[in-house]
Formats: sequence, structure tokens, C-alpha cells
Amino acid sequence: MDLPTQNHLTTLRSLLTYRLHELESDINAAQVHDTAVSVEPSEVRDRQDEAVRAQTGEIDEAQERRDMEEIGLVKAALHRLDTGTYGGCLDCGADIGLQRLLVQPAASRCAACQAAREQSK
Ligand SMILES: [Zn+2]
Repeated sequence: MDLPTQNHLTTLRSLLTYRLHELESDINAAQVHDTAVSVEPSEVRDRQDEAVRAQTGEIDEAQERRDMEEIGLVKAALHRLDTGTYGGCLDCGADIGLQRLLVQPAASRCAACQAAREQSK
């Protein structure tokens, strides 16, 4: 299994940093959107609008929660890069492997442990 070299770690760090900024601007945009909806004058709302808005609001909220979770994972991965523990599985300590990290830079477990964890949910 290939292990990440220093060059790979630099690439992975910029992937993670980029993703973090992307997620943070997503969340900022969602919050701006929330504010815009709440200051809208109430007389222009009719029932249909209300329903559509409520539906969209729910989707935004779920998306926002996923974004927040991913931010946590990305930040944790950046922290592991800083402390030199990046690339090891949190559960079994095995190397996660370069191929998996390039696909999922925020991965904190090897494929086997991640699968076991998802099954036990
Ligand atoms: Zn593992």
C-alpha cells in the first residue's frame, strides 16, 4: 500500500484547506439566506410560498448540519497533519493508505474500520 510522501501531504493539506473554505462559505451563504427570508415583509407571503419556503428551509438545515459535521472532520484532519499523526487509522492504527486519502482527505479510519463502524450504526 502506498504511503503519502511529504508532497502528497502538502497536496492533501491544500485539498483540506480548500474544502474547509468551501464549507464555511456555504454555511455563511445559508445564514445570509435565512436572514433575507426573515426580514421579508409578511404581506407578500401566501400559503403556497410558505409551504415551499418551509420545505426549502428543511433541506437547507439538513445540508447545513452535514456541512458542520464535515467541517469538524476536515479540521480534525488538518490538526492531525499539524501534529504528524495524519494518515493513521484512529481505531486500529494501521496506515489509511494514499489512495483512500486522496479520495477522502478527511478520512480518519482505514476502509475496514470505517465499514465496521458504519455497520454497527
Ligand atoms: Zn483501522
